[in-house]
Amino acid sequence: MMCARAPLLDALPAMYVLEMAEDVVQRCLADDRLDLDDHDPGETFGWDKREAQVAATEEMAAVAGLQRKFFASEQAALLVVLQAMDAGGKDGTIRSVLNGVNPAGVDVNSFGVPSDEERSHDYLWRVHAHAPAKGQIGIFNRSHYEDVLVVRVKKLVPEAVWSKRYGHIREFERMLVDEGTEIVKIFLNISNDEQRERLQDRVDDPDERWKFRLGDLEDRALWDDYQDAFRDAIRKTTTDDAPWYVVPADRKWVRNLVVAKILRHHLERIDPKYPAPDDEIEGVIVE
Ligand code: AMP
Ligand code: MG
Repeated sequence: MMCARAPLLDALPAMYVLEMAEDVVQRCLADDRLDLDDHDPGETFGWDKREAQVAATEEMAAVAGLQRKFFASEQAALLVVLQAMDAGGKDGTIRSVLNGVNPAGVDVNSFGVPSDEERSHDYLWRVHAHAPAKGQIGIFNRSHYEDVLVVRVKKLVPEAVWSKRYGHIREFERMLVDEGTEIVKIFLNISNDEQRERLQDRVDDPDERWKFRLGDLEDRALWDDYQDAFRDAIRKTTTDDAPWYVVPADRKWVRNLVVAKILRHHLERIDPKYPAPDDEIEGVIVE
């Protein structure tokens, strides 16, 4: 399954392309033979920028509408895991795609370098505590996957330790699914060049500089190792119930539309319904 675009699409008018784009969610779905070379971070799926922005607004409105029922019904929880290289657009995605969603139903958690207390527990402890309640959309900005990404690349624990974690993570996520959580995992796929530009912008723009750490350059120097670690993490933990999506993220307008489509798809899968009102309510007059 690839995000690669068939040459035929170049010859089609934009209208048709937008309709064909309905399978984009499927095209970004990863499987256990994932090759990141098949996923172009600059992919546009033939979309025109303006049309895609309009389409994204519509998708976000649909997401907001579904969330009202999802929040009211408390049938299920939705966990969205967001992972990316530095400057991959995790914060921007959260800001854009959840625009219009009732904030009372969204719980965003960011996972940075573990505290001493977090480090004194197993690596799933801190994330499990923030797994969303029923009716809530939980967003993980970084997640337990850091424990097979930065931890592997920077050799923070021996291979004998991190290599067992893929299995733990599959089991942990399966437990969450069995207990009523829908899980969606999104890798925002940016190119090496795009990361360079975005990091440079952070350095150059006083309003963005706070996001930049010198350590980002160390991570950037380890780009290939991170790509391998992402590939392996996705291959080993993508399942029917807790799938990974590889989202082309060099263009923010493509990324926003694709992520909105993915969230809509999963909320539709949950198919939330408003709770049935009490029988006696029908016809009640409020004086
Ligand atoms: P930021 O998302 O820019 O606030 O950066 C958070 C930093 O925390 C990143 O450099 C991550 O690699 C790092 N980080 C997140 N989780 C872990 C972890 N489990 N072990 C070590 N570093 C981590
Ligand atoms: Mg950072």
